[in-house]
Amino acid sequence: MARLHFHCIDENGNYIIFETSEHEGKDLVNSYQGYVKFLIDNKFTPIKPPNGKSARPIVKFDGKICPQCGEKVWDNRERILIGEFNQKSPHFACSNKGKCKFAVWRGQYEIITNQ
Ligand SMILES: [Zn+2]
Repeated sequence: MARLHFHCIDENGNYIIFETSEHEGKDLVNSYQGYVKFLIDNKFTPIKPPNGKSARPIVKFDGKICPQCGEKVWDNRERILIGEFNQKSPHFACSNKGKCKFAVWRGQYEIITNQ
């Protein structure tokens, strides 16, 4: 039987993958809140996408060089930690301001070290 997969965000901002065939869809929707409660009651935590935006692919880079333009990248993590920068600031932002808009927030990147 053909099945459909939908990657979506529920009303509480939780990231879900909704998988159904056309006949099961209504049953799934009707019992959905019950499943969420069941998972939470059993110590599972639904995942929310970073920043409340739809899931973006994780950017893998070295934390020093902009993967888009090759310029230096500002590492703001320390300044966010000590409160010098707002919690909503990007963790990394390209120094090539005006020309390059590269910036990544919590949960959107992975630091790769070439060692
Ligand atoms: Zn850049």
